[in-house]
Amino acid sequence: MAAWSPLEWPVLRQVLTGDRTGRGAAVQSARTRQIESRNATADRVVQSVCPFCAVGCGQKVYVKDDKVVQIEGDPDSPISRGRLCPKGSSSEQLVNNPLRQTKIRYRAPHATEWTDLDRDTAIDMIADRFLAARRHGWQDHDEHGRPLRRTMGIASLGGATLDNEENYLIKKLFTAAGAIQIENQARI
Ligand code: SF4
Repeated sequence: MAAWSPLEWPVLRQVLTGDRTGRGAAVQSARTRQIESRNATADRVVQSVCPFCAVGCGQKVYVKDDKVVQIEGDPDSPISRGRLCPKGSSSEQLVNNPLRQTKIRYRAPHATEWTDLDRDTAIDMIADRFLAARRHGWQDHDEHGRPLRRTMGIASLGGATLDNEENYLIKKLFTAAGAIQIENQARI
């Protein structure tokens, strides 16, 4: 620790720095003065939208060496005008969390362990199950012969992290497939 100097006496600092009320530079510790904002070290800033909920607050993503170093509210957003709630403010931890899953994980029926799957295999498995469930739950007519042309084998429940465009596409896809139970957490 550096030796204490009389010049560090708070009252003297208030006089010398012009911070008469002691609410600015005069009351900063040496350690605080050495701290540099993560924003200051970023080499670029990218505008984005918070992924957590349907409010869609604007974000400024600070990037250094192609790595996200900080995320803050975007004052240019007409929705949030620079504000983020605690979840949105912690988005940087969502990106850089060492526990973040970056691989597709699969636990087979009756298995006790998870295994990694490559993306093509996972998509094929999902498509196979989707088609089988659609076929299995298909209803062509009701008991009076009236046309139904729907499947009761598929339901969709979206989460609040889905945005308008994703919800639009999900609704289109599932309705075209004949599903009628299409819901979203925000509506429930
Ligand atoms: S989680 Fe918070 S910051 Fe993110 S969009 Fe919703 S209200 Fe905005």
